Amino acid sequence: MGTRPAQAIWNAALGELQVQVSKPNYRTWLEKTTGVSYQDEQFVVSAPNVFVAEYLNRNQRSLIEKTLIGITASPNIRIVFQVDGKYKNSSEAYATARKHSPAAPLSSSVFKSNYIFDTFIVGKGNHFAYAAAQEVALSPRQSYNPLFIYGGVGLGKTHLLHAIGQAVTAHHTNVICLSAEQFTNEFVNTVRERNVDEFRRKYRNADMLLVDDIHFISGKEQTEECFFHIFNELHHANRQVVLTSDQPPKSITSLTERLRSRFEWGLLVDIQLPDFETRLAILEAKVKQRGVEATLEILEFLARRSLQNIRELEGSLNRVIAYARLFQTAPTIELATRALENISDKEPESTASITLGLVTKAVADSFQLSVEDLKSRRRDKETALARRVGMYILRQETNFSVAQIGQELGGRDPSSVTNACQNITGDITANPYLRRKILDIQKRINSVPNPKSRRAK
Ligand code: ADP
Ligand code: MG
Repeated sequence: MGTRPAQAIWNAALGELQVQVSKPNYRTWLEKTTGVSYQDEQFVVSAPNVFVAEYLNRNQRSLIEKTLIGITASPNIRIVFQVDGKYKNSSEAYATARKHSPAAPLSSSVFKSNYIFDTFIVGKGNHFAYAAAQEVALSPRQSYNPLFIYGGVGLGKTHLLHAIGQAVTAHHTNVICLSAEQFTNEFVNTVRERNVDEFRRKYRNADMLLVDDIHFISGKEQTEECFFHIFNELHHANRQVVLTSDQPPKSITSLTERLRSRFEWGLLVDIQLPDFETRLAILEAKVKQRGVEATLEILEFLARRSLQNIRELEGSLNRVIAYARLFQTAPTIELATRALENISDKEPESTASITLGLVTKAVADSFQLSVEDLKSRRRDKETALARRVGMYILRQETNFSVAQIGQELGGRDPSSVTNACQNITGDITANPYLRRKILDIQKRINSVPNPKSRRAK
């Protein structure tokens, strides 16, 4: 079998893994992997770097294999992780990061393989940004410098940025692509290690610099200053710079005036909410990419929900697909309604608003314990399991840190939260009781803010 089926199978596996592991776990380890080939029971997965490959190999092999067995129905499937040079475009930076320490952030750009122009659906809200991005990718420097793309969360800014990067890397251009947060972290480390000159040299040598979410540096004086100099040097040398942000430069508070004016030198383009037709076209494309079956009726049903952004739209599709797998049926309107009934279509970040207390209560209720039991020193099997599940769910459903979660559950050490999460993640596929519990708790959590849907099921 060639690469296409491998990628389709892997996309399906990722869809399932996304619901099985915690969000941070998924983001850190799985999001940037791709399915390379599937032949003679051997399934090759490409990881963006050696740390990810090693981590997956050590910690998630069995979970992933089980998932793949479920999808391919071939019980002897073996998984092999490989590091694929294609997604890192600066082997130097990669080698340096490895030398320093395994935990050092990779400063080289890591592109998301499916964030390319071909998979970007053009519609009313984004055609201008798309055209500008393509123009810059086709003839960098001659078009607009910098290109500044802004728009709300989940509307495709990172997708376009990576698309530019991947298009020009194919022509051996030295591209550096990173988030402003990575830039800031790297800069802070550089200052600590007194390596600022080297840091600046690295960026100065780029043919193209792509920085995602540039608003992140606002108010961080030294980082802004350093970025200002790098920007000037690149601009003078006629090197292309592309920036994205959730706001236009003039609305980014606490950005120094001189940076603001530089950001406005080139072309400012915005991405707006997609209309119904675009949402439908996006869903059709995603379904095709992932090789899953869904009727037009279902897709229209999903597209009609007044979602705030495309990430949400994809999320709702993933959820429906996951439900269909769980219940082993084709997705129907009824199933989709059920899968989405507790998800508000007005409030995309509703997970963030779920408070610690609410989740803890749901866990306690599900295990028929009291919240005090969960927070107590009790160590009997059931209480200990409930506590670990609580940690896992909090990690998955909220944005709280392991320290905050440990605190909530009776002042426990952050490392015990991390262990509990790994432990539950490892057990979840093999243990139907655990799976049922987790689904039950998620149902309880989701039904709280919307009392109307309590009568469900
Ligand atoms: P942002 O950076 O603006 O927050 P992303 O670029 O991360 O948003 O996009 C969120 C998700 O939506 C990604 O999975 C991306 O591939 C997808 N997406 C956004 N716009 C489009 C589009 N026009 N066509 C296809 N997929 C899109
Ligand atoms: Mg983004």
